[in-house]
Amino acid sequence: MSVIEPEVGTGRPLVDIDLAELAAVSAELERKPASAAIRWAYDRFGSDVVLAASFQDCVLVDLAAKAAPGIEVVFLDTQYHFAETLWYVERVRERYDLNLTVMRPLAAADDLWQSNPDECCAMRKVEPLARALAGRQAWVTGLRRAEAPTRAGSPVVHLDVGRGIVKVNPLAAWTDDDIAAYKRDHDLLEHPLAAHGYPSIGCWPCTRPVAPGDDPRSGRWSGAGKMECGLHGWPTRG
Ligand code: SF4
Repeated sequence: MSVIEPEVGTGRPLVDIDLAELAAVSAELERKPASAAIRWAYDRFGSDVVLAASFQDCVLVDLAAKAAPGIEVVFLDTQYHFAETLWYVERVRERYDLNLTVMRPLAAADDLWQSNPDECCAMRKVEPLARALAGRQAWVTGLRRAEAPTRAGSPVVHLDVGRGIVKVNPLAAWTDDDIAAYKRDHDLLEHPLAAHGYPSIGCWPCTRPVAPGDDPRSGRWSGAGKMECGLHGWPTRG
């Protein structure tokens, strides 16, 4: 595991790729297992692709470990994760012998999450991810359409216009039931908080447990009118 200490990232050129190719690849991968999308990204971009894992579960990591062993996995350590999440990251890293990079924010811990969560996410998630992706051509995410209306139109593969690189969402079509079935069928290690009412797990100040049957993401930024941390745009398929 490598830990990248804060440093100012450099810019990166836009990836040189044909948009028609991306659309065709996305349509083809839509009909294939999620592992095919990860494999395509690794074959196409090699060490220039990074997988960003939230570690609320390890479905994407398990798929990647089989389809693209050695792929770099990035974890954004906001400094506000639950102790259980940090424990889980280490257990998963050991289990899969992950090529793990931990990115940390430039800012020291503060109370910005109380007054300006958007700016807090920008400093603790968006900017560290930008450093992790500097010089890369693609990133793989665990984004799913079922997670939120803002994600409902996400393709499997598309150009991440804001970052100028390719974005691959292997789990785009997966439902919550698909995730649960995969975890059960593959005997995956569970996040310790999953059994305590936390179906969606982020930073401790902005995550609360939800009642059975409630929207899984309703425990994130509850009452703040915020649905996204800013890592993901929301392009439409087509
Ligand atoms: S989820 Fe909350 S604590 Fe974490 S970076 Fe965003 S605002 Fe800050």
